[in-house]
Amino acid sequence: MTTATSSERPRILVVDDQPANIQTLYQVLKGDYDVAMATDGSQAIALCQRRPPDLVLLDVVMPGIDGFEVCKRLKADSATRDVPVIFVTARDSTEDETQGLEVGAVDFITKPVNPPVVRARVRTHVELKRQADFLRSMAFNDGLTGVANRRWFDERLQVEWLRCRRNKLPLSLILLDLDHFKAYNDHYGHQAGDDCLRAVAAAMKARLGRPADLLARYGGEEFVCLLPETPAEGARAKSEDLGRAVFDLGIPHAGSATAPVVTISRGVATAAPAVEGSPSELLARADERLYAAKHAGRNRSEG
Ligand code: GH3
Ligand code: MG
Ligand code: MG
Repeated sequence: MTTATSSERPRILVVDDQPANIQTLYQVLKGDYDVAMATDGSQAIALCQRRPPDLVLLDVVMPGIDGFEVCKRLKADSATRDVPVIFVTARDSTEDETQGLEVGAVDFITKPVNPPVVRARVRTHVELKRQADFLRSMAFNDGLTGVANRRWFDERLQVEWLRCRRNKLPLSLILLDLDHFKAYNDHYGHQAGDDCLRAVAAAMKARLGRPADLLARYGGEEFVCLLPETPAEGARAKSEDLGRAVFDLGIPHAGSATAPVVTISRGVATAAPAVEGSPSELLARADERLYAAKHAGRNRSEG
């Protein structure tokens, strides 16, 4: 979920093989938006993949990959699927419009462009995009801790499982559970318990380095960490790192039989590329090892 915060200026990508057309749109939009430009289809796709803009204004007739094909490819890639596309075209036949809508465009603007019309349509679609981003972030974030929720984790696990299989790469999981957390709530109160969960989540999230690494709240006081392209020894090291990060917070825990501060038990499991299995088996294995870590005295990692 790499959505821009609403305080930033919206970013628009203008794509046209004629620099004069780009200039015209740039003049109309530069006051309200950050405008990037591309003069052919493959450049446009590359820019979108690197950093998806909030809106694309796309010429239809271009040498090489035409606008319809660019739009189709953007919609086929989960990284760029949510970027709205408006076609800017001199071709205003019903067939063209139908084809544009079929490949996933949200609107049409005809050339030569009329500046107030461009401004109005762009404003409408950028606003809708921002609202959609907000709803997506609500649907996939945990409200208490701000990390991803279980729904997002489940989705990413499926995607990364397939990707790692296809590319013959290992995939690791760490399940993490706070130790004696019922006692923490009983001793300090539920509000303090919530604060503790927030602090623990933030401390662990700060230790995840790679873009594909994911920390999610899995349930009440249980978290899960997804580590694509990570072999067993890397995952074990990361698990130690997360355990230390929580311990080092030094949150007093008078009700703990394990330590004077809040600690976390972990279960690690890795799917090696050559071994058959499923995401749910991998989760089950991490869960068994988490249970073993609890049994072996807590504040430790198994697996
Ligand atoms: P163990 O070391 O075996 O994991 O013991 P535990 O007490 O942590 O585990 P148990 O499953 O018995 O209790 C979990 C407790 O976590 C229950 C509940 O009070 C607390 N908890 C779960 N979700 C939340 C939450 O959102 N906020 C707060 N404050 N507490 C929560
Ligand atoms: Mg053209
Ligand atoms: Mg617990």
